[in-house]
Amino acid sequence: MENSTLNNRFRTALFSHEDEDQDKEYVGFATLPNQVHRKSVKKGFDFTLMVAGESGLGKSTLVNSLFLTDLYKDRKLLNAEERITQTVEITKHTVDIEEKGVKLKLTIVDTPGFGDAVNNTECWKSVADYIDQQFEQYFRDESGLNRKNIQDNRVHCCLYFISPFGHGLRPLDVEFMKALHEKVNIVPVLAKADTLTPTEVKRKKIKIREEIEQYGIKIYQFPDCDSDEDEDFKQQDQELKDCIPFAVIGSNTVVEAKGKRVRGRLYPWGIVEVENPAHCDFVKLRNMLVRTHMQDLKDVTRETHYENYRAHCIQSMTRMVVKERNRNKLTRESGTDFPIPMVPGATDTETEKLIREKDEEVRHSPCQKPHEQTQHHEQHPEPEPRVDPPSEPPPSAEVEHCVCKCVICVY
Ligand code: GDP
Repeated sequence: MENSTLNNRFRTALFSHEDEDQDKEYVGFATLPNQVHRKSVKKGFDFTLMVAGESGLGKSTLVNSLFLTDLYKDRKLLNAEERITQTVEITKHTVDIEEKGVKLKLTIVDTPGFGDAVNNTECWKSVADYIDQQFEQYFRDESGLNRKNIQDNRVHCCLYFISPFGHGLRPLDVEFMKALHEKVNIVPVLAKADTLTPTEVKRKKIKIREEIEQYGIKIYQFPDCDSDEDEDFKQQDQELKDCIPFAVIGSNTVVEAKGKRVRGRLYPWGIVEVENPAHCDFVKLRNMLVRTHMQDLKDVTRETHYENYRAHCIQSMTRMVVKERNRNKLTRESGTDFPIPMVPGATDTETEKLIREKDEEVRHSPCQKPHEQTQHHEQHPEPEPRVDPPSEPPPSAEVEHCVCKCVICVY
């Protein structure tokens, strides 16, 4: 079966080659993208998305709306009392999604408990540690012997949810983004945009963008458009950049709007449609994440964030090795620096006594015999006629004749 497929493929290649004979300029490397495409589709894709922000901002609802799944079936919601003492937890959900034969292993990393405590100082720490741990694991796997099936759990993007009820960023938002912007691609989103009027959304976006700039936060930067791209594409790209932070709405329910069944939120005064570009930026965010920038998010993770981590790791490892080497060199040079092992609980004289006893033991041990023989041999040498002198004389006759290879003989 496999052979016939191969033969067919080979025959097709030959025939197409004959056809192409007329076109002498054609070598065939134009098919390289097809080969890459086939291989990648076979291998499948993976993507790890982190969602962070205070609980109740609609993170789980948005993730379900984005990937049309129900990732949070078994979620246990905590009451207010439990949340006060709760620390930030990191949870991971993985789903395999398939669309037109293309498989995507999607991992969602959630941060329940973030920003929920009374004192939220350094609550970003466990999130930062998690990201570092994934880098560390990858670094270990990559430096190991079998690098064929490395599981890549590095976080490719972090959707950071900003509350629609504040005036711009809160101190916690600034702290979180500043602590993580060099570890992960941060994409800020303005949560529950249906609670704001269009003017409010516009004003809040401008304020948040200004504050991001003011605090020196480096959020994910969309790559610049190539100059040869068509005007439509350039305009779409600019619109996407002006959209930051994406004003989003999520919903787990399907409602009927204008005779169509859509994901939306039903209010007494009307329906808010999640996928309606006039209502929010949900479609723009989904297109960016899935259709246009998923690969770039992965590339930036690999080439910038992971590379930074790796360089930092290698630097500190090198520093440690150099320090250790210098220490050893110093110890060797100042021979007296060797610490003399002390027997616990023994006084100096007792230690000396013990050392003397050990010396005696060594002197009377079986390995002394060859030495004695050697000495005897040296005393009554039977010179053998030597034509060529050895290029390197043995360090001592004792070593030459010793058969027991004990430490004393060797040194
Ligand atoms: P999480 O704790 O951040 O994961 O928040 P959830 O997804 O559990 O949502 C908390 C509550 O907010 C639920 O009652 C949701 O129905 C509601 N919710 C989610 N998304 C939106 C939204 O876009 N707009 C509004 N008004 N409510 C939302």
